[in-house]
Amino acid sequence: MNKGVYGLIVAAGRGTRAQRDDQSLPKQYVHLNDKAILTHIISKLSDDSHIDGIITVIHPDDIAAYEAASAGFEAKLLPPVFGADSRQGSVYNGLMALADYSPEYVLIHDGARPCFSSDLITRVMDKLQNYQAVLPALPVSDTIKRAGDGVVVDTVDRSDLWAAQTPQSFSYAQICEAHQAAQDYNQSISVAGVDGEAQKIEFTDDASIAEWYGMDVHIVMGEECNIKITTLADFERGESYLSSNKNKGVDVRVGHGFDVHAFEEGDAVILCGVSIPFDKKLKGHSDADVGFHAITDAIYGALGDGDIGTHFPPSDEKWSGANSDIFLKHAAELVQSREGRLTHVDVTLICEAPKIGPHCALMKDSIAEVTGLELSRISVKATTTERLGFNGRGEGISAMATATVIF
Ligand code: MG
Repeated sequence: MNKGVYGLIVAAGRGTRAQRDDQSLPKQYVHLNDKAILTHIISKLSDDSHIDGIITVIHPDDIAAYEAASAGFEAKLLPPVFGADSRQGSVYNGLMALADYSPEYVLIHDGARPCFSSDLITRVMDKLQNYQAVLPALPVSDTIKRAGDGVVVDTVDRSDLWAAQTPQSFSYAQICEAHQAAQDYNQSISVAGVDGEAQKIEFTDDASIAEWYGMDVHIVMGEECNIKITTLADFERGESYLSSNKNKGVDVRVGHGFDVHAFEEGDAVILCGVSIPFDKKLKGHSDADVGFHAITDAIYGALGDGDIGTHFPPSDEKWSGANSDIFLKHAAELVQSREGRLTHVDVTLICEAPKIGPHCALMKDSIAEVTGLELSRISVKATTTERLGFNGRGEGISAMATATVIF
């Protein structure tokens, strides 16, 4: 469902209040765990299937920092735009730059809030199906006091108070109209001079522009973790939220593979990279290593990415007689290139003969060598089929495997 949904990250601020390692960088470029705060945000929005494109509003002095923080996400990133001298002006520039893409919705997100979850985006997107302005917010739990000169004047009723977060999300056409009207209004005040009653309105977020313009802004539940990194203490909270989100969100995938090869005249079979002397060999296009083939297909299965035939078409002569470690290595490298980790492989070889047991340790070594797995994460087993079926009649060997990949 492509509805033209764009993320707009507001990252033009010069705020260096929260500082740790590099005193010269605005906070959105400071690292939290292993990445810049802005990189966390770009990465999450890029991974989100709701989002079609991302635009970032930056300060002209930050071009190099932005290029470093955004490298590798080119697939969804649009060229950045420069901010203005107010947050409102910066968002306006971002909205105008999106016009060419005719968005249906825009999610405007603070460049200092890296800890939101994908669930929040889903909640926002669900709400946008019915409303034109959506604000993630949390009910205020602390008792709120109004004070002057350090003395409490009043206790504020908190029952209908909410703390606003981002991404504040809108129908693109509507929020553009609202921003345009707010811009025109403030410009008219400038032109009128200081003698009138009217004053410029300083909008601190986009929901307040939408409210001012008369839009109904609908609340969705925000997240405790979705903090704006402001103080030094926020860095530690942010790092801890990012680590726990990562653990909570660990993505485990198990793939399955199955393969069969028939016997023909020969003097050895190759199973999981090990040559076992026998009075037959396995027939096939490559070296017919039924064990490696099953494991390779299990890994492709965990990645949801086809099978050996897809990646190495049998019609291609160059794979004739190939060592099957080529296929297994390719699958293992594909896991790495997707930023996954192969954590376990289990293969069962099914035949009456040759005897597999004496060769299992060597096969595990061979799988470890090709995949980079530790031996404790590899299992090689064998069984017969009690002389039943084609395996039982000694017509060939089959293999079943599973592979586990985590992201
Ligand atoms: Mg095969």
